[in-house]
Amino acid sequence: MDRYAVIGNPISHSKSPAIHAAFAAQTGQSLTYEALLGPLDAFAATVAQFRAAGGRGMNVTVPFKLEAFALARRHSPRAQAAGAVNTLVFDADGIFGDNTDGAGLVRDLTHNLDCPLAARRILLLGAGGAARGVLLPLLAARPARLTLANRTVARAEALVADFAQRAGDAPLDACGFADLAGRQFDVVINATAASLADEAPPLPPGLYAPGALAYDMMYGRGDTPFLAAARADGAARLTDGLGMLVEQAAESFLLWRGVRPDTTPVLADLRRQIEGR
Ligand code: NDP
Repeated sequence: MDRYAVIGNPISHSKSPAIHAAFAAQTGQSLTYEALLGPLDAFAATVAQFRAAGGRGMNVTVPFKLEAFALARRHSPRAQAAGAVNTLVFDADGIFGDNTDGAGLVRDLTHNLDCPLAARRILLLGAGGAARGVLLPLLAARPARLTLANRTVARAEALVADFAQRAGDAPLDACGFADLAGRQFDVVINATAASLADEAPPLPPGLYAPGALAYDMMYGRGDTPFLAAARADGAARLTDGLGMLVEQAAESFLLWRGVRPDTTPVLADLRRQIEGR
């Protein structure tokens, strides 16, 4: 049987083995998928060991996405733009690195949530790895404008300058949270780590245009402070990042197996489990 794994540290909380087992059962693919705890000082050695033991591919999560980028010999354009890798493919030509996070987010928004992005005003909060991974796919969806706001403004500005070089005259700008006063958006995505600390980015009121959607990449924590603040500020729709998790997994599965699983029942099952229904 073909072997796959997710590597991270910590890893015991990972939903990826359950998601990929469901994909395999649904598509009739014969494979195993395990969770590997990567030692912080031995990521490359652990990957090499798994590959030598017959591994065909891996998902990579916190804190190894940059090391995975460095390890891959070839990269997809979206991994190149993100500077980070969440999917490794082992083949005869060596190690190929891809990044499916952005495609997962865009598919969750447009497909699962029926939230078209073309000609919309998008606000992306944060300038860390998660924001970097989704910038190019969001721009490819042709929004009217994509604004990147971050606590440390210089980080947002540096990221936008870097992407402006790749994406030409894309409608992209950077600012701090306070600079958002008086502006409105159709889609607001929280890619900061604030929810991990039970905090919300300090945003000015009045950000949400009529019908706007608030999206927190964090999942499994119910109503985060960001989502609660969005509701109070008039966001019409609220969602967490569970759909992004399942969709990025489906993109990886497609890459490895050449078949796209139906994510709808897998996402519904996972949500039932997480919410204890
Ligand atoms: P990083 O550590 O790389 O980046 C952290 C970012 O959050 C920085 O922009 C930082 O700002 C900002 N930040 C941290 N704390 C606060 C705060 N209290 N208020 C405002 N801004 C803050 O993290 P990642 O980019 O890797 O991850 C971000 C989030 O995305 C996590 O919650 C993660 O779980 C989630 N995620 C979800 C995925 C999914 O599939 N659903 C996939 C990937 C990530 P500054 O630059 O000023 O320090």
